[in-house]
Amino acid sequence: MDSEQLREYGHRMVDFIADYYKTIESFPVLSQVQPGYLHNILPDSAPDHPETVEQVLDDVKTKILPGVTHWQSPNFFAYYPSNSSVAGFLGEMLSAGLGIVGFSWVTSPAATELEMIVLDWIAKMLNLPDQFLSKGKGGGVIQGSASEAVLVVMIAARDKVLRSVGKNALGKLVVYSSDQTHSALQKACQISGIHPENCRVLKADSSTNYALRPELLQEAVSRDLEAGLIPFFLCGNVGTTSSTAVDPLGALGKIAKSNEMWFHVDAAYAGSACICPEYRQYIDGVETADSFNMNAHKWFLTNFDCSLLWVKDQYALTEALSTNPEFLKNKASQENLVVDYKDWQIPLGRRFRFFALSQEHLHAYLHYTEILCIVFLNRSLKLWMVLRLYGAETLKNYIRNHIKLAKDLEQLVSQDPNFEVITPRIFALVCFRMVPTDDNDEKKCNRRNLELLEAVNSSGKLFISHTALSGKIVLRCAIGAPLTEEKHVKETWKVIQEKASCLLPK
Ligand code: PLP
Repeated sequence: MDSEQLREYGHRMVDFIADYYKTIESFPVLSQVQPGYLHNILPDSAPDHPETVEQVLDDVKTKILPGVTHWQSPNFFAYYPSNSSVAGFLGEMLSAGLGIVGFSWVTSPAATELEMIVLDWIAKMLNLPDQFLSKGKGGGVIQGSASEAVLVVMIAARDKVLRSVGKNALGKLVVYSSDQTHSALQKACQISGIHPENCRVLKADSSTNYALRPELLQEAVSRDLEAGLIPFFLCGNVGTTSSTAVDPLGALGKIAKSNEMWFHVDAAYAGSACICPEYRQYIDGVETADSFNMNAHKWFLTNFDCSLLWVKDQYALTEALSTNPEFLKNKASQENLVVDYKDWQIPLGRRFRFFALSQEHLHAYLHYTEILCIVFLNRSLKLWMVLRLYGAETLKNYIRNHIKLAKDLEQLVSQDPNFEVITPRIFALVCFRMVPTDDNDEKKCNRRNLELLEAVNSSGKLFISHTALSGKIVLRCAIGAPLTEEKHVKETWKVIQEKASCLLPK
């Protein structure tokens, strides 16, 4: 590491990124390139000799940026937001600069302790029950994604139940969720070895705004018990991906508890909103949960990736996931004085990890160095930066502003007779569609909405996404990019109306 080179290149890179943000609205929000475009313009093999940073940045401008979809554009409304911010960026930079690998406490005590502290702070902002705080058996950990979060808790729950009923019972374990639950749960089931026939995907429909009905869960659990199966895991949602549906946590948790099931709450998107007292009600009942997850990288001004997971019983995680090879042994861990986050997560691999400018550098490096690298990116630094540079009140107002903009859009949609709002907006996602024309042909209506989606997204002016609810194709406009202002939402609606008018029967 050459400090002076870092200073020089670092300044240039910051300038490049700052200029990118300054001009972000000039790019088509959704990349308009065709598959394979980059193969046609980049060389077939890596350079043998170092190139200059100017050459690389030139290529970023001319070859990479055309293939970028601009998630931080104020006109990005697809999926859910993935926030970045100055504080998050600085935290990433500091984290990369320190280059630590904090898998065990001893490998960087500050990394572990800062993560515990920051997760306690946010647990308090969310008013989570004390059992989720690190002072007792519980605590929080930063995972890379909500998918990893649900996977690790499912493995913990699986092993806990198998310890009491015997390993041979794996084929009897049953998982429950609504059909609105993110596919991350299905993946967790696949990885955890849950029999596909033992995944109960319970129907949630418009009568409950796509929330899971507790009676349906109770019936399914009773049926499975009668059949000699073992209900062991329930995933509840606060803010589903399609429409931000909120499951009744208290009632679901009661059923989970009385059947000794692990209750996980996926609040990947909407959890952030629950730091505002007026939205905290949506996680009422979280006291019945065993684990709770929210993605700070979605709507909490923290650069990707940063997924927060709290558990009431950290030992359920460590009993399932801990390993203790000789080469990682150390006094603090052996004496049980510390948290070793390597035992709360999936990654623990021997990997080389480096940044090499050229193959020549790479070969020289490999020649001299054999490194054992266990990957654990320290994400708490950026979260700490976000909390310190913005503070809780700014974060709350940030969320409130997006929700207000979404409310305004919902009103605009509902005032236009060619459109309808499909589910009542709760947070900052508006679900809507063009209404069927006089023939009431739903298939035709779905096709028209997909055409509208294609027309607005290929304009490059904005990017929205879609889903299906009760067989209807629904357009989703999720407001939550850090740069989005009222004018962007108004302009977006204008573009949608204009494109829609071209699709209406003449
Ligand atoms: N849960 C919900 C509600 C989501 O919306 C998403 C992604 O958007 C996920 C889980 C999966 O998130 P991740 O990409 O962090 O695994």
